[in-house]
Amino acid sequence: MERFLSQAANYIYTKHSHGLNELCLVFPNRRSGAFFTQYLQNRIDSPVVGPKTTTINELISSYSELHKGEKLQLISILYDVFRKHTKTTETFDEFYFWGEILLADFNDIDRYLVNAKDVFTNISDLKEIESIFDYLTPEQKKALEQFWGSMAVVDKKGFQEKYTFIWDKLYPVYANFKKELYENGLAFPGMADRSVVENIKDAAYEFKYKKYYIIGLNALNACEKRIFTQLQRLGKAVFLWDFDKAYLGDTKNEAGYFLRENSIEFPSPEDFVFDAELFNQRKNIKLVAVSSVYGQSQQIPNFLTETRLDYKEKFDNTAVVLADESLLFSAMGAIPENIGTVNVTMGYSVRNSVIHGFLMLLVTLLKNKRKEGSGFVAYHRYVTDILNHQLLGDSDSEKGKAFVAELKRTNSITVDLSKIDFSPLYKQLFQLPEKVEEYSHYFLKVLGMFHQQFKASETNNAMLLEIIYSIYQAVEKLGIVVKSVIDSQKREISEVVYFRLFSQYLGQVSVAFEGEPLSGLQVMGILETRCLDFENLIILGLNENKWPRKFTAPSFIPFNIRKGFGLPGIDEQDAMYGYYFYRLLQRAKNITATYSVIKEGMGTGELSRYGFQLLYDSVHRPEMSNLDFVFANDPVRAIEIDSSKNIVQRLFEKNTEEYPLSPSAINAYLHCKLKFYLRYVVDLPEPDEVKEEIDGVVFGNIFHDTLEELYKPFVGKTISKNDLENMLKDRVRLENEITRQIAIHYLKKKKPIKGPVKLQGKTLLIFENAVTYLKQLLRVDLGVAPIAIISLEEKYKRWIDVDINGAKTSICVGGKIDRVDQVDGQVRVLDYKTGNVDSLVFSKITDLFDGEIKKPKKEILQALIYSWGLSKNLSNYEIQPAIYSLRSLFADNFSPDVKMGKNCVLFSDLKEDFEINLKKLVAEIYSEQNTFTQTEHIEKCQYCPYSVICRRF
Ligand code: SF4
Repeated sequence: MERFLSQAANYIYTKHSHGLNELCLVFPNRRSGAFFTQYLQNRIDSPVVGPKTTTINELISSYSELHKGEKLQLISILYDVFRKHTKTTETFDEFYFWGEILLADFNDIDRYLVNAKDVFTNISDLKEIESIFDYLTPEQKKALEQFWGSMAVVDKKGFQEKYTFIWDKLYPVYANFKKELYENGLAFPGMADRSVVENIKDAAYEFKYKKYYIIGLNALNACEKRIFTQLQRLGKAVFLWDFDKAYLGDTKNEAGYFLRENSIEFPSPEDFVFDAELFNQRKNIKLVAVSSVYGQSQQIPNFLTETRLDYKEKFDNTAVVLADESLLFSAMGAIPENIGTVNVTMGYSVRNSVIHGFLMLLVTLLKNKRKEGSGFVAYHRYVTDILNHQLLGDSDSEKGKAFVAELKRTNSITVDLSKIDFSPLYKQLFQLPEKVEEYSHYFLKVLGMFHQQFKASETNNAMLLEIIYSIYQAVEKLGIVVKSVIDSQKREISEVVYFRLFSQYLGQVSVAFEGEPLSGLQVMGILETRCLDFENLIILGLNENKWPRKFTAPSFIPFNIRKGFGLPGIDEQDAMYGYYFYRLLQRAKNITATYSVIKEGMGTGELSRYGFQLLYDSVHRPEMSNLDFVFANDPVRAIEIDSSKNIVQRLFEKNTEEYPLSPSAINAYLHCKLKFYLRYVVDLPEPDEVKEEIDGVVFGNIFHDTLEELYKPFVGKTISKNDLENMLKDRVRLENEITRQIAIHYLKKKKPIKGPVKLQGKTLLIFENAVTYLKQLLRVDLGVAPIAIISLEEKYKRWIDVDINGAKTSICVGGKIDRVDQVDGQVRVLDYKTGNVDSLVFSKITDLFDGEIKKPKKEILQALIYSWGLSKNLSNYEIQPAIYSLRSLFADNFSPDVKMGKNCVLFSDLKEDFEINLKKLVAEIYSEQNTFTQTEHIEKCQYCPYSVICRRF
């Protein structure tokens, strides 16, 4: 198989062996020029001055006298012109996005040499299309008719009116904008190109080379065509197109879309002969589905093993083509070491680098900073994301970690940035600039410090240093542009515009890999493959959204009008990618293409249309296969812990009067035996996180302790209706107490609380909630007062004799009872419940001790355990368990009474039955024969702190 560029080199050398220096060779990109030069050198055996090689963009730009302005500069000028014509009150900020679209449209209009006045004509009378646009083809006119015809039926007062108002202004805006730019010696790229080709008419340029060879180009815009026409007229142009008849002759195949026209308009010389019927020759094609995006790279070693007989360590033998460029690192990692030289011909986009990720965290911090006093504060997560970042791993990270731990401990929602000053680097990171014009300087300082730090470090990661340096240059350039626009055009640049530009500037930066371009295995992106041929190809990422790329730039010019005037759109983009694909395959022998079947983000998990075309619309019969991985994801195994002498011993040791077996522990056991084991046997702590919203436990503590403080003066006394009315009236006292409890339980302030406590955001909402519920509880109590308060938040305990492992043993059971009081002579064991309580009714005692039940009535069991504990001390009294469920406090028929069936429970009625069941359960918990198993009701795991261990939820 002879490569196209090699054939072109032979052809040109045969024709011009003694005058190569009189030639200018125009390629789609520099890489194809480099490959061509290599093929040419293979023909030359003595030193000669070679031809000039260039790209089409460079050729046109070399004739331009206009300076291409930076985007911000251009949009700033455009804004002034737009405002003058439309009298818009939009700010520069609001305009910026539209400005970008408008600029792109003007760029297309000029690159395609379209008459802007015609494009922006408002055609209310469709008949005008025939007379005004007589130079358009019938299809183009039809497209215009479709658009303006549909506009005529749109509601006149709404969209159409606004749209046509702007539309009518666009030509004057375009014309004046360009006038303004000319006067300043500036241009946007399309304008610069148009100005070059319009001057060709005056023969203003000298085409100094004897011949211009146009090699391997495909899609041409009107400016390029105009230049080529001129060269053709002068007899200086030679066109060498690369194609295969398989798609050139098939008008349905988009791959030949541009060349069908180009080869007629700019024919190749008849004596340039190359084999254009290779596509349909036998090829080994494989399409491999992979159930992982990055896993596709694992096909590389397989491919290299399969093609080892055809593999040669030559620059044009084998290529890894990344349709998905994010696979670069995984592909590099998958190339076997014994393969020899590897050359990465694509730049590594800094967007995928760790330093870019870090800068984006700083951007988020800058966007969300808030002025407070003389400094800035920010939401804790924006700060902790930075402090936990791997880039800070080597620099005082211990201090950073300690700072994060303290934020968690004190539940600090906002962070005072001035406090993060534990090294010059940290100080620089969190000393945020005030004004947008200072942002670039801030980033440059940060980048400078990182550069210094990594240069001095032992690892001296050259790639990382190169990335930092490249980003530094881009930010420096951005800083200069922003400053010049602010100074010269007195424009205020907002944060939104700055960060949009920041992202665009960084998005263009890529770092070249070190390598020898003309040897070994080549790794490249789609665009780098233009004009190149390889015998062995492995394509990674042959997915529908990757090849062809799905990107249509937004445009103010409607689709049909674009079509009418021959401006490029999605069809042209698809045709370009179709050509890249078919052309790349036409001379290859072994082709393997992988595609990911994972649907994520923009990924559809679908094979590209070109893969399907190979399958169903070509002579080839690609082999379809799957690359399966055995993932380390073992099936989730059940966790069971058999109890033992040691475990029981540990439980016994932990059971004391100070730490009795609590109703919470009993409920945890009934909820899930493993949860009990993790929490009460091995004391596994629950993860510590900053609580953005006050969680149930913290709210419960705030509520309980506020109530305790309010009722404390009445312990051992009776609280009257009058006392409760006074409490309700004294709003200040109630609110102060709630605030104090929030400071203690949520903000973790030490007692006594000093200074004012500032509530903000969600804590304010919780404060309001607490006020509402507490007042309602006081009203409920008012309804039954007078109330004798026997105790508040007092610990009660009682020993229970149980037969455990064949021996009589006593276990202490107990806990803190919210309130014991007496109303109308009836002693109540009262529990406040801030969480959800399903119902205060149960059917039978055994249900309360049944761990298999999906929704156990744990609040009732707790109230009954307390009643049981108290019944020994207050044996002369009837004890009634009662629950104040906050969520029911506002109900008209609110009642705190616990009921068995229809009857209110008096503990004495079920005492014996209850005790039997309690003993049985305690004996089970302490049994050496017990097994701590996971609950079968998976929904119980939803909020369990150990769900990660169990791999549930
Ligand atoms: S996650 Fe589920 S099974 Fe595991 S301990 Fe928690 S409740 Fe039990």
